[in-house]
Amino acid sequence: MYIISRCLLGFNCKYDGGNNKRDDIVEFFRTHDCVTVCPETAAGLESPRTPSEITGVRVTEDGKDVFSVKSKTGDDMSELFDYGARLSLASVLVEAGNRIERKGIIEGAILKANSPSCGTGVVYDGTFTGTLTKGFGVFADKLIDACLEERSNQDISDENRLFADDFKVCDENSFARVFGNK
Ligand code: SF4
Repeated sequence: MYIISRCLLGFNCKYDGGNNKRDDIVEFFRTHDCVTVCPETAAGLESPRTPSEITGVRVTEDGKDVFSVKSKTGDDMSELFDYGARLSLASVLVEAGNRIERKGIIEGAILKANSPSCGTGVVYDGTFTGTLTKGFGVFADKLIDACLEERSNQDISDENRLFADDFKVCDENSFARVFGNK
């Protein structure tokens, strides 16, 4: 089972009311077992909406990242983004759990580049100037944490495993390189 950012499939859930449809990713979705997520929609945000960016990250004592997210008009969106990310992760894990008997463990994720929710490795830097910086979106970060946590529980038997050993998270720019069109 794969996880795909919903806007990459043509859903108009982007902040500007549009989408980021990619025909090759739609084709991948058509031919693979996939679940879709839009963490910002899950948070109850409408489309169109005021864009938001991550303005800082703080690491808590238990090693979790807490993101500060602000809208372009200065509203603190941190809690909403965190809520949407947690809800999306929970729905993905439930879906994976429902598929376990069919061996549908999570094999990978194809997420929208640069997004404060879905970005993987690079996100906008919080200045709303189109500048990119290293980092992960709120949902992408939680997804990777969940995968690492799963792997640290080595005593969990194979049939209860949720993430594949070669689980990969990529953005749409590296999709073809990471997953090809298998
Ligand atoms: S990048 Fe993620 S949160 Fe933003 S519209 Fe696409 S799916 Fe939704």
